[in-house]
Amino acid sequence: MFYKSKTLNSKATMSTLKRFRYHVIKDAGLPLLMRLSEMKKRKKFTPSTQTPFNPPLKARRRLKEIMTRHYALSRFAEKAKPVAWVTSGAPVELLRSFDFYTIYPENHGALCGALKKGPEMCQIAEDHGYHQDLCSYARIDLGYHFSKITPVGKLPKPDLLFCSGNICQTVVYWYKVLAHELSIPLILFDTPYISEDICEDDIAYMVQQIGEMIPTLEQISGKIFDFQRFQDCIRLSKETSTLWGKILDTLKTQPAPMTIFDAFGHLAPIVSLRGLPVAKRYYEILLAELQERVKQGIGALKEEKKRLMWDNIAIWYKMRDFSNLFAEHGMNFVTATYTNAWCESTRHMNPSHPFESLAKTYSLIILNNNLSHRLKLMKRLIRDFNVNGLVIHSAKSCKPYSIGQYDIKRMLLEELDIPSVIIEADITDARAFSEQQALTRIEAFFETLEARVE
Ligand code: SF4
Repeated sequence: MFYKSKTLNSKATMSTLKRFRYHVIKDAGLPLLMRLSEMKKRKKFTPSTQTPFNPPLKARRRLKEIMTRHYALSRFAEKAKPVAWVTSGAPVELLRSFDFYTIYPENHGALCGALKKGPEMCQIAEDHGYHQDLCSYARIDLGYHFSKITPVGKLPKPDLLFCSGNICQTVVYWYKVLAHELSIPLILFDTPYISEDICEDDIAYMVQQIGEMIPTLEQISGKIFDFQRFQDCIRLSKETSTLWGKILDTLKTQPAPMTIFDAFGHLAPIVSLRGLPVAKRYYEILLAELQERVKQGIGALKEEKKRLMWDNIAIWYKMRDFSNLFAEHGMNFVTATYTNAWCESTRHMNPSHPFESLAKTYSLIILNNNLSHRLKLMKRLIRDFNVNGLVIHSAKSCKPYSIGQYDIKRMLLEELDIPSVIIEADITDARAFSEQQALTRIEAFFETLEARVE
């Protein structure tokens, strides 16, 4: 589905000078700057007897470099490369084959949330008439659009918006607003809602849409569609998501070599750099380190007494506090519905049938399926990861993720005897979080879990 705004600038105008500057910065300037800043910052980890954690993963440093470089380089991408802003669930492999520089406003929102900038940026959107009940990723992005304030310095102006409604309908309206405000094209990938199983008509409907996107992408990028390249991008994406699945699987070990709070951070490349070699290389490094920790019996926590599952997106501004609080009680998060979403449907990716495989991969995901599918998935994760309890984040921003959580809580207690606690908060907007209420509920949850003999 192709939405044209009133005054459409469909072809990205590239500048040879800006392209040259982009490559100089990418290949020489940034690597040098990063090495210098790394030399300045390098601190030795001093083990403390007070902390409940074992030494952190070394790969963290590489992750920081990759993401800093991604945002730093994006400032030079404008007019040097075609730039697209993309939703997390859109089939980005197609854009990769046209060499788009991609920015994920949801990842940018999470980053702003983790840096505690959410309320300030949401407020800017609210001052422009957007309601506080709107998803805070959308409000942060619109806040950026109106103010150009961001902790990453600057985001490149997009030539294209690429959106899929498989995660929610909010993104559809949010991206329509952006298309109107920026006067640029929006490509919408419409995924039918799946109730358990996908049918041939659904696949045909999505395949046709992908085919129809190609002339528009050729026009904007100035490149001819290369089928072989498209297949290679899907192959790379599949290999990367498979690695991500293996990384999460290392947490089945007791003690688990990292926590889900670590995994929320390590998720950034699979969200934002999916289909690029840098993401695959990064996950090879991370997997090797985790496998080594498993071999040596090194857990994320010094003592792992209970194993927990997290449901929903992270509360980004509370990650560190929650990580410490749960670890002090010997409770380790070993799985999450959210981190699992990035390898959940990878098996459907098939470079030999690229169109059909993208249709299946991107429609058969947790948020585009019904509650019984979600319950089945959670039961499998509970068994596979040997989970003792569940923490459910009821996110004010995210209705599709938060709907049905009270039913799920009840059913998991009745059917698997899994106790749980619901924390009412928001993904990035700390104004929707009551510390006292959350702590009271969590303390009661700790007492329930600690009283249980597994
Ligand atoms: S957080 Fe929820 S509502 Fe917001 S964009 Fe993501 S899926 Fe949609």
